[in-house]
Amino acid sequence: MAHPQPRANIARIPAYVPGKPPSTRPGTTAYKLSSNENPYPPLPGVVEAASAAVATMNRYPDMGGVALYAALAERLGVPVDDLATATGSVGLIYQVVTGFCEPGDEVIYAWRSFEAYPIAVTAAAATSVQVPLLADGRHDLAAMAAAITDRTRVVMVCTPNNPTGPAVTQTELDDFLARVPEHVVVVVDEAYLEFVRMDDAVDGVATYRAHPNVVLFRTFSKAYGLAGFRVGYAVSQAPIASALRAVSLPFGVSAVAQAAAIASLAAEAELLERVEALAVERTRVRDALLAQGWDIPDAQGNFVWFPLGDRAGELAAATDAVGVTVRPFAGDGVRVSIGEVEANDRLIEVAATLR
Ligand SMILES: *Cc1c(COP(=O)(O)O)cnc(C)c1O
Repeated sequence: MAHPQPRANIARIPAYVPGKPPSTRPGTTAYKLSSNENPYPPLPGVVEAASAAVATMNRYPDMGGVALYAALAERLGVPVDDLATATGSVGLIYQVVTGFCEPGDEVIYAWRSFEAYPIAVTAAAATSVQVPLLADGRHDLAAMAAAITDRTRVVMVCTPNNPTGPAVTQTELDDFLARVPEHVVVVVDEAYLEFVRMDDAVDGVATYRAHPNVVLFRTFSKAYGLAGFRVGYAVSQAPIASALRAVSLPFGVSAVAQAAAIASLAAEAELLERVEALAVERTRVRDALLAQGWDIPDAQGNFVWFPLGDRAGELAAATDAVGVTVRPFAGDGVRVSIGEVEANDRLIEVAATLR
């Protein structure tokens, strides 16, 4: 009997492996350091704004997201036409490949990088071109530029790179952009932007203003602590932003999510204090691990990377045994989010036993 058959590429979509939930152990607090979430609870004003929006659940959300667009435009100093909001930046990743790739067109990205890239590219029947990271977890931008062919439509630059941690510098990005043909979209995935503390950091807004083919992807999931609500946004010159809006899921960003995002922008000062505390804590954790002799790449996000190869499972099992869930990538390494101080301390203790 003939069954309905999805397109052939659908069977090739890799599964998204979510960070495991914390394993509960009687007598110990369990911690989830497996999904790079913000460990702080939501700010009071944000909870109230979201709660008020819950009362409107019988209505569709504002499809144009007018208030959220206005708040973002004001915050970033950009025209509303240069913005596209979406259901998290994962939504934007799907939208950019859907909007710009014909089947078989190529999307270049570093590997290992964010695991939603191969999923979205395959779902769109486009072709992934994965360019290996350098040994220290950085993007090999020279090799990525050299990989561009006449089938290339999109290049993703994940900075800071999830899961390895380093970020590209403005100088590196400028040199790279000078080598990319103008018709190729360059996504600068800045999911961890707020955690970056380095010299010559990328100024995304200045970069998109100078380059009509650059689009920034940002999210409320990490620094802003709204991972559960699914809000992200793109910033680019109007033609790309308009294409991203055109292929978006109608009414994708809920009224509750829009309200929480707007309230978060209003509470930005308090949120960014927490981000600063996490950045300081990140340095403490990385320094402790370096002192133990681990080879931890520069960490510009809210996580550290253990390039463990075949020993990835070993570290994950050891932290699991003390109630700390991390994110192993089999055969490659382990990513550990910066979380509560107690959780980070347990990680440091366990890591010492494995040296
Ligand atoms: C977490 C993450 C995202 C997006 O997350 P959303 O929750 O979909 O906004 C995008 N890119 C990278 C590199 C990430 O780590």
